[in-house]
Amino acid sequence: MHIAIVGGGIGGLTLGLMLHRRGIESTILESAAEVKPLGVGINALPHAIRELAGLDLLPALDAVGVRTRRLTYANHLGQTIWSEPRGTFGGHEWPQSPFTADGCTACCGRPRKSRSAATLCGRTHA
Ligand SMILES: Cc1cc2nc3c(=O)[nH]c(=O)nc-3n(C[C@H](O)[C@H](O)[C@H](O)COP(=O)(O)OP(=O)(O)OC[C@H]3O[C@@H](n4cnc5c(N)ncnc54)[C@H](O)[C@@H]3O)c2cc1C
Repeated sequence: MHIAIVGGGIGGLTLGLMLHRRGIESTILESAAEVKPLGVGINALPHAIRELAGLDLLPALDAVGVRTRRLTYANHLGQTIWSEPRGTFGGHEWPQSPFTADGCTACCGRPRKSRSAATLCGRTHA
């Protein structure tokens, strides 16, 4: 079986890696001419980190992100409105990790290159 994945965003790249884990080959079809970071970054919550950690990407994510200790909302005087611990600091099994778009591309794109079962193709349109 060979799976066609349309879209090489974090969803498509992750799916490609997960299929590879299960011994299923895939080809990722991406309409963008090149894979490059877009936007500032992404704040990955514990349930998302769990999936990426299952692909052995946690060390790579830790290298490009920061494990969030606490989320705090404050007013313009710096006075706390609301605050709570996050990720492992809040009792979750997995961390909450914001990482840059650059880091996201590096983490999900790097194993795609080294694990040859998932192939990324450019310039396709539905
Ligand atoms: C401003 C902003 C901030 C966000 N912040 C967060 C955050 O902090 N935390 C969080 O968890 N989520 C955040 N999100 C949401 C998150 O970015 C998306 O849920 C996630 O990127 C979706 O990933 P995806 O792979 O499903 O889709 P996409 O990242 O949209 O990837 C889809 C890919 O498919 C390609 N494509 C589309 N059509 C075709 C076609 N016909 N043929 C081939 N390729 C095609 C596109 O070029 C694209 O590369 C944010 C979103 C935005 C816009």
